[in-house]
Amino acid sequence: MSEGFFPAGDTIAAISTALSESGLSVIRISGPEAVDVADRVYRSVSGAKRLADQPSHTVHYGYIADGETLIDEVLVLLLRAPHTYTREDVVEIDCHGGLLVTRRILETVLSHGARAAEPGEFTKRAFLNGRIDLSQAEAVGDIIQAKSNLALASSISQLRGSLLQKIKEVREQLLLEVAYIEAALDDPEHYSLDGFSEKLLATVNGREKELRRLYDSAENGRMIKEGIRTAIVGRPNVGKSSLLNALLGEERAIVTEIAGTTRDTLEETISLGGLCLNLIDTAGIRDAEDKVEQIGVRRAREAADRSDLILYVADGSEELNKNDEEIIEMIRGRKAIVLLNKSDLTTKVTAEELAERTGRPVIPVSALEGTNLETVEETIRQMFFDGEISFNDEVYITNVRQKQTLGEAITALGRVRESLEAGMPEDFCSIDLIDACEALGLITGETAREDMIDTIFAKFCMGK
Ligand code: GDP
Repeated sequence: MSEGFFPAGDTIAAISTALSESGLSVIRISGPEAVDVADRVYRSVSGAKRLADQPSHTVHYGYIADGETLIDEVLVLLLRAPHTYTREDVVEIDCHGGLLVTRRILETVLSHGARAAEPGEFTKRAFLNGRIDLSQAEAVGDIIQAKSNLALASSISQLRGSLLQKIKEVREQLLLEVAYIEAALDDPEHYSLDGFSEKLLATVNGREKELRRLYDSAENGRMIKEGIRTAIVGRPNVGKSSLLNALLGEERAIVTEIAGTTRDTLEETISLGGLCLNLIDTAGIRDAEDKVEQIGVRRAREAADRSDLILYVADGSEELNKNDEEIIEMIRGRKAIVLLNKSDLTTKVTAEELAERTGRPVIPVSALEGTNLETVEETIRQMFFDGEISFNDEVYITNVRQKQTLGEAITALGRVRESLEAGMPEDFCSIDLIDACEALGLITGETAREDMIDTIFAKFCMGK
């Protein structure tokens, strides 16, 4: 049922082995341009051999290079359609199994014409291209379904916070601009383009900046599982949960104005510029009457004891008290960062005073307004810059895909900006604006292109 019915696929690539420190990793490329893409990054020892000229089912020794830079010594398997796993041209790159090197090769392949594969996509193609039969397809369908849910769950968790909302909002605004341009072209009497260029330029500049920020933070999703155990400590109501939420960009911890609502510890993992933090939101440290609260306080102390890093949060709008004294005592000799929260309110405690009390630099922040959180990130990064990191396969791949798609949207917006700056007419910008919207839609799932195949395939599998 499949051949000829589904659109010919583009060329996809992914790391096919588990992303861990191992002796060997495989990056697989599949699709009509697989061999071309591989030739763009493959360098034979003599420098003269091209994979395109080689017979199928052969192995080639050489290097992977990004422009002038050699990344790794590799073996390349050249497998031409139709006798391959996907029935498309397939190139497999066997490289040394380091995390960085594997990731770097994937990124190089992606920047030379391949798209990051969805989880299960190689198998899906094998089915779509009729390589596996109905009974196998049913079994594979189940696996793919599970993988898609996993992928879905991981993108939802990544996008749960500000990311999805932001992208939707940007996309909607860009669509409105497109609609306005179209309307003005159709009906110039009622829709004027006077002064529109300036307005559009301002919008594009602003949105491009926002997307760029997201682009930079996209990699800071939950791609890394293990990381620095980080305890957020401070007396009740200083804004620990709010800080956690601000760092996560979502409403995971419950924020209330009643002291002592954070009863248990919450764990969230965030990644800051390639570092991973397991953030633990602990109950405020104080002499609690309430039993549950006492357990919370004990856990906070334990968590702080077990943590690699302590984020001590003080409330700048209130005087320091006995609890702060205790905490200051507790963090002595530990890796800790002192945050003076609620910098948006009138201060009762200055950063200087607190620095003197704690003997450490103090970062004034506002968790509520998200002020100065970059400094926190930067400080942590500097503290742990050489720390060990480990990646999670599935989530990481999703991340590369999102990052790549966001990159496309940013590039399209860049083209709009250039056209506007060059004084090109507005309708000229429509195409690039639409491109940007399409790319953003792929992240939010609003653009149907890829979903179409998924839906058809899901239906097929349900018929079993
Ligand atoms: P926790 O008990 O330390 O986790 O404190 P919460 O995060 O629950 O915050 C307690 C109260 O302080 C809530 O009403 C927050 O909205 C408020 N809050 C937290 N951070 C800030 C801030 O930076 N500025 C202001 N004005 N209020 C904040």
